[in-house]
Amino acid sequence: METRSISVLGATGSIGLSTLDVVRRHPGRFSIHALTASTRAEELAVLCREFRPKVAVMADPEAAVVLSELLVDFPDTKVLAGLDGLCEVASDPAVDTVMAAIVGAAGLSPTLSAVRAGKRVLLANKEALVMSGKLFMDAVAGAGAELLPIDSEHNAIFQCMPADKVRDPGGAGITRILLTASGGPFREHSADDLRTVTPAQACAHPNWSMGQKISVDSATLMNKGLELIEACWLFNTTPESVEVHVHPESIIHSMVEYADGSVLAQLGSPDMRTPIANGLAWPERIDAGVAPLDLFAIGSFHFERPDLERFPCLRLAAEAFKAGGTAPAVLNAANEVAVAAFLQGTLCFSDIPVIIERTMSSTVVEPANSFDMIFAKDKEARARAREQIDLLTV
Ligand code: NDP
Repeated sequence: METRSISVLGATGSIGLSTLDVVRRHPGRFSIHALTASTRAEELAVLCREFRPKVAVMADPEAAVVLSELLVDFPDTKVLAGLDGLCEVASDPAVDTVMAAIVGAAGLSPTLSAVRAGKRVLLANKEALVMSGKLFMDAVAGAGAELLPIDSEHNAIFQCMPADKVRDPGGAGITRILLTASGGPFREHSADDLRTVTPAQACAHPNWSMGQKISVDSATLMNKGLELIEACWLFNTTPESVEVHVHPESIIHSMVEYADGSVLAQLGSPDMRTPIANGLAWPERIDAGVAPLDLFAIGSFHFERPDLERFPCLRLAAEAFKAGGTAPAVLNAANEVAVAAFLQGTLCFSDIPVIIERTMSSTVVEPANSFDMIFAKDKEARARAREQIDLLTV
């Protein structure tokens, strides 16, 4: 068996740590070439001592100095800093697999470096694909990269499709994708209750343990909106063919409907190590350390339609996809700014969609002709979203 050499971008995060847990279970099958983080140097130093990567990268240069000091007695690992370091370990010829698990738009350039170098790219960083859509998929095709979805829903859909028809679902007789959603921690809250929810409540997801930003996105349903866009690009389809089903148990991770009436589903405990192991070993299956599913204990499954009145972010995402061009990059940037403000306590939960909608309506949509245009719109939208927050909070 050939050892796969992996760079884990975002190693200190929720997905990064789950990835390393799967890797830890399979010595000999995987080796770690590089680990990266943003500011948490102490956490990365501990991981470096265990996994002995050739390179460790801190996006923040000051944190890179701290990491170098922490690893002064550990010459196995070279420390790099900044975006250049991230892109270097994502595209290094010694690497064959890149776990793209940086959160948010910050992940686009390093993920794109991996794509352009033709790697197997395990895509957790959905924001990168949402922002740049067709440009990203064209880069994948142009470089012959192998893009495997790690988001549990998209990994489930991928598992329910014939592998050679992922970009041609119609050709496989697929009529619809049923994208499941947990509904988040506030599924049963009234619109009034939503005004007063706190960051701690928003981050306490009922089924999944995740980073703060995606936890808030799950609570607003923006996560499902980003996933709707992600599904359209990954599976070359349209929002009309993707129907969101709220499924509070989070056991069915998504489904695919075929022309003959068959619906294939992928089930499992809500544990990201399953899709991560699937991506790492694909097309083989390996132990992920996940508890077996006990359907007797779960007892029953429920489904409901999403409430777009209380949770308008899903509607806003569908509108951004339909508007095309730079609109999804604007949606994503405004969301990142609004979520950060909510987590800092300067914006109320119900105003997250307000900021996104106002930013979208005040930013001109342009054709997404280049990555430079995407980055410029991201910057412009962030400035506009901050202006909107200031207007709302004075
Ligand atoms: P976390 O917040 O837990 O981790 C984020 C990681 O990215 C950390 O290693 C962090 O470093 C690093 N990072 C943060 N900012 C930057 C930056 N500017 N430059 C470089 N690195 C940075 O996030 P998650 O693991 O929850 O999510 C990661 C991605 O995976 C997201 O796109 C999310 O949507 C997606 N995803 C996550 C799921 C989950 O279950 N968590 C499920 C499906 C998708 P540091 O620790 O130093 O801050």
